[in-house]
Amino acid sequence: MPIKRAEKTPMPMREAQLRAHDFLEVNGGYTAAHAAFEAERCLRCQDAVCVDGCPVNVPIPEFIHAVAMGDMAGAARILRSANPLPAICGRVCPQESQCESECSLARRFNPVAIGHLERFVADWERTQPPTAKAQITRKERIAVIGAGPSGLVCAGALARLGYPVTIYEALHAAGGVLRYGIPEFRLPKEVLDWEIGLLKSMGVEIVCNVIIGKTLTLDELFGKMGYAAVFIGTGAGLPQFLGIPGENLNGVMSANEFLTRVNLMGGYKFPEADTPVRVGRRVAVIGAGNTAMDAVRTSLRMGAEEAMIVYRRSDKEMSARVEEYHHAKEEGVKFHWLTNPLEVVGNADGWATGLRCQKMQLGEPDASGRARPVPIPDSEFVIPVENVVLAIGTTPNPLLTRTTAGLLTNAKGCLVADEKTGLTSKTLVFAGGDAVTGAATVILAAGAGKRAAQAIHEALAARG
Ligand code: FAD
Ligand code: SF4
Repeated sequence: MPIKRAEKTPMPMREAQLRAHDFLEVNGGYTAAHAAFEAERCLRCQDAVCVDGCPVNVPIPEFIHAVAMGDMAGAARILRSANPLPAICGRVCPQESQCESECSLARRFNPVAIGHLERFVADWERTQPPTAKAQITRKERIAVIGAGPSGLVCAGALARLGYPVTIYEALHAAGGVLRYGIPEFRLPKEVLDWEIGLLKSMGVEIVCNVIIGKTLTLDELFGKMGYAAVFIGTGAGLPQFLGIPGENLNGVMSANEFLTRVNLMGGYKFPEADTPVRVGRRVAVIGAGNTAMDAVRTSLRMGAEEAMIVYRRSDKEMSARVEEYHHAKEEGVKFHWLTNPLEVVGNADGWATGLRCQKMQLGEPDASGRARPVPIPDSEFVIPVENVVLAIGTTPNPLLTRTTAGLLTNAKGCLVADEKTGLTSKTLVFAGGDAVTGAATVILAAGAGKRAAQAIHEALAARG
C-alpha cells in the first residue's frame, strides 16, 4: 500500500511564550479533519507490530480504521476494550518508546500518531452521554488501597465483573499521581474527574482521607470490615534525596512536595486556593525524568524568571517523554547536562542561594546500561538559585508493609507480587503498579490493575 504522507499530522498546541505562564493545557487535540487525515496514514499491517509495542496490546489498526471510517463509537469501544484510561494515556504515555517506536512506517517516515488518535477518540467519548451503570451481581466485597491508575483500573474492572468495590485513598482526592503529580497543563483534571465519575456511576465507592496502615490496618480490611480480597495500588510516592550538604535549607524541596502543593493543594490558583507556594527568581530542578520536566515547567508558570534542569548525564540518557522535553525547551527552560550537584549553598538566614556543581563526562556503561558519568577534575562552579527541587526518583512508602505481617518486599522496598496475577505473599492480597515495579508509567500501572482484577475474580470463583 503506498505511503500517503511521510509526516505525522502535527498536534495543534498553544504558543510557547503564552503557555509558559499559565496552567491551561498545552496541546489542543486533533480536529475531526486532522484525525481522519492521520488515520488514513495507517497501513493496517497484517503483522501489526505497533500492538506488540503497547503494554496493554490495544488493537491499534482496528481502532484507527474505525476512525478512518468515521465510526467513532466503534473506535471508542475497541480502544476501551484494552485500555481503561485512553484519554489519560493519549496524553501522557511515552508513545515514542512504545507503540509508535514499533510502527512499520517509522522505518522510513514518521510513525502514525497513535497517541494523538487515541486522545482524539477518548475526548470524543467524553462528549457522549455516559452508558456505564452499576450492576452488582456478586456478594464478595473487594477493597482497593490507593486511587491512582492501578487502583482505579482494578476497581473498574472488578465493578464490571459485578463486585461491590471500595477504594481507600490516603489523600483528600482520588487520582494518585494523575491528580497530585502531573500538572493541569499536561493533564486537565476534568479528564481525570470524568474517569472517576464513570467508576462511581458503576457503583465503585471512593473513601478519601483513609491511610491503610494507620487509620485501618490491612488485616482489619478482612476481619473487621469483611472484605473478601484486597488490591494494593499504593504507588511509589516516597521521594529520594541526594544526601548532599545544604539539602535541609529553606527553598529546597522534593518534586513530589512541590507538585503536590501546586496541583493537589491548588497552589497555582493562589490566592483563590489558600496554598501559597514560594518560588524564587531562579529554580534548579535536579533530574531529567517526567517528574523533573513537570517540576521545571511548573516553576516557570509559578513565576520563576529562570528555570533549569541540572542532570549528571547527557540528554541521551534522560528518561522524560520526548514531547515534554521539546515543550520545556520551547518554553525557555535551560539545561545543564553533565552537571552533578555537590552542595546547596545558603545564606545566614538559612535560605538557599546557589547550587555548587561539578562538570561530568560520560564513561563506561554502569549497572543500568547507561554511560556512567565521571567527574571532570577542577570543574566546580556555582549556579545562583533560590530554589532547588529534587526529582531524582521515588520509592514505595513503607508504611503499609511495616504494619502488615507477612507482606513481603524486595531489596528496593517494592512489594513482591506474581507478575501475571499480582498475588502477593498474603492470601487474597494482590498488588500492582508502582508499589510493585517502582516508579514506572501510567499504562503499566493500569495494565497491572486490570490483570489483578481478573486474578481476584478467578481466585474468588475457585473458592466457590
Ligand atoms: P500512584 O499514582 O502513585 O497512586 C497511588 C495512590 O495510593 C496515591 O493516591 C496515594 O495517595 C495512595 N496511597 C498510598 N499509600 C496509601 C495508603 N497506605 N492508604 C491509602 N492510600 C494510599 N507516567 C507516564 O506514563 N507518563 C507521564 O507523563 C508520567 N509523568 C509523571 C509525572 C510525575 C510528576 C510523576 C510523579 C509520575 C509520572 N508518571 C508518568 C508515572 C506515573 O504517574 C505512575 O507510574 C503511576 O501514577 C503509578 O500509578 P499507581 O496507581 O501505581 O500509583
Ligand atoms: Fe498502522 Fe503503524 Fe500499526 Fe502498521 S504498525 S498498523 S502502520 S500504526
